[in-house]
Amino acid sequence: LAEADRRRNPAAAAGRSTAAGRGSWVGIDLGATNIAAGLIDEAQQVVERVKVPVPTGGPDTVLDALAEAVDGLGGDPLGVGVGVPGQVREGWVLAAPNLVGWDEPVDLAGPLARRVGLPVAVDNDATVGVLGEWRAGAGVGAAHLLGVWWGTGIGGGLVLDGRLYRGATGGAGEFGHVVVARDGAACGCGRHGCVEAYAGRANMERRAREAVAAGRRSALLDLQGTKPRMTSGVWAKALDKGDDLAIEILDEAVAALGAAVGSAVNLLDLDHVVIGGGLAEKFGQPLVDRVAAAARRHYLVEGLTRQVVVATLGDDAGVVGAAALARGDTEG
Ligand SMILES: [Zn+2]
Repeated sequence: LAEADRRRNPAAAAGRSTAAGRGSWVGIDLGATNIAAGLIDEAQQVVERVKVPVPTGGPDTVLDALAEAVDGLGGDPLGVGVGVPGQVREGWVLAAPNLVGWDEPVDLAGPLARRVGLPVAVDNDATVGVLGEWRAGAGVGAAHLLGVWWGTGIGGGLVLDGRLYRGATGGAGEFGHVVVARDGAACGCGRHGCVEAYAGRANMERRAREAVAAGRRSALLDLQGTKPRMTSGVWAKALDKGDDLAIEILDEAVAALGAAVGSAVNLLDLDHVVIGGGLAEKFGQPLVDRVAAAARRHYLVEGLTRQVVVATLGDDAGVVGAAALARGDTEG
C-alpha cells in the first residue's frame, strides 16, 4: 500500500514514515447533534478538524455527511474510525435512539468504506471516548480502566487486562445503569435506581424542578433563565452562591457515583478510573476527588496505586479514540 501511495502521491508520501503504525487516521465522533471529525497524526495530535450538524434525513444522509467530512479533512489517511451513539456490533449500528430515522439496524462500516475508499471501524461512542483517554489522555498506562462520562446522561467504557472490553454482545461499560438504590428513583432507561437517575445532569435538573415546584427555594431556575438545559455552568454559578438545593443535589450525585465506582472497583479490581464529561470537566479534579472519597468508603481492598482522575482530552476524546480504533490500537 505504501509503495502504491508513493507513486500516486509522492509529496504526501515523502512526509510520512513507512514504518508499520505510522501515518494519519481519521477519527469521527458522531453525536446526536454534531459530527466532529479530525485528522489524527501518529503522535495522536489533531492536525485538522471538521464539524458539521448531523443531518436528520436518516442513515443515508448521515453517510453522505460522514463521507464529506472525511473528504473535507484532506491529508492522506490510512483509515477511518467512527464512534456512534448507540449499540454497535461488527460495523453495524443495531440501535441508535438519539439519531433521527435510525429505526432499523444500519450497516455503517461497509457503505462508508466504499464511499471513502478506506478501511472503516465503528464502535459505541462512550467506548471510543474511553479508548481515547486510555491511549492519549488520563488513562495512559492503565491495564484495568473504567472510563465514566458524566454529562446529561452517564456513559462508560472498560479496558480490562490491557484490552478494550466489549463484552458478549458489545454492550459492556453501561456504567450509567449500575444500580445504586434498589427500587430507587426512575431512570430514563425505564428502570429504577440507576446511578444516572441520581447523577445524570438531566435527572439532576428534574430533581431541582420537582423540589422548587414543591416549595424549595433555589437560584438554579433563575440562573438557567431561557437556556434549554441546566448546563454545568448553571450548576457552577448556583454552587458558587452557596445554593442549598444545588449543594444537596450535587452531594447526592457524588454519593451515587461513589457507590457505583466503588462497586465497579470491587468487581473488577481496577487500577484507573477516569471521569470526564461536562460536569467532571467543569469542576475538574476537586470534584473527581470527592467522587473518589465517596467510592473509597465502598472499597473492600484499598488499592495503593489506584487512581481516580479527571479526563484530559475534553471534546477530543471521541475523535482521538476513533482514530485509535481505526488503526486497531485497542490492546497492549
Ligand atoms: Zn437506567
